[in-house]
Amino acid sequence: MSRQANIDEEVNGRISKASSAFGRLRRNVWDRRGIKLSTKLKVIHTLIEKAQARWAGHVRRMNDSRIPKMLLYGELAEGKRLAGRPKLRFKDSLKATLKSLSIPVENWEDAATDRHHWRRLVHQGADAERRRINLAVSKREARKAREKNPSLQPPPEHKCDVCGRCFRARIGLVSHTRTHKD
Ligand SMILES: [Zn+2]
Repeated sequence: MSRQANIDEEVNGRISKASSAFGRLRRNVWDRRGIKLSTKLKVIHTLIEKAQARWAGHVRRMNDSRIPKMLLYGELAEGKRLAGRPKLRFKDSLKATLKSLSIPVENWEDAATDRHHWRRLVHQGADAERRRINLAVSKREARKAREKNPSLQPPPEHKCDVCGRCFRARIGLVSHTRTHKD
């Protein structure tokens, strides 16, 4: 296969992956009512981070003569920035991405040499991030529902034996109980 055909295939593959991911995203998040725009953007941000981390791993495993790799590493070796270059370089934004995917920044390059290992790390990080976002959304939805219909209020589970006051969390009761001991 020619180099151009290779590149075409890679680009097409990436586009179709991206559009099926966006299709899923539309169904699950974007078209859903009652989700804040900021949450939708967070979900999209996670997808972008995932793509960036996977791309970084791909570049890391590239032959040293490939242009993306030279761009990624060249600047480091030169130690200076080309004029007119945006301030936030790929390396910097990759750092932030790895952080939010809970991937150690110091040795990401070692981790990325194994494609399957890297893929797993990126997936796990993105899943964890998605869970955090989902948790925040469902907490918010539950709160909204309780505000509309106070009878939905969950019964407090931790009741003080002395004064009958109730606490949602056990730790609340524990510290409250101390006040009776004075
Ligand atoms: Zn009490």
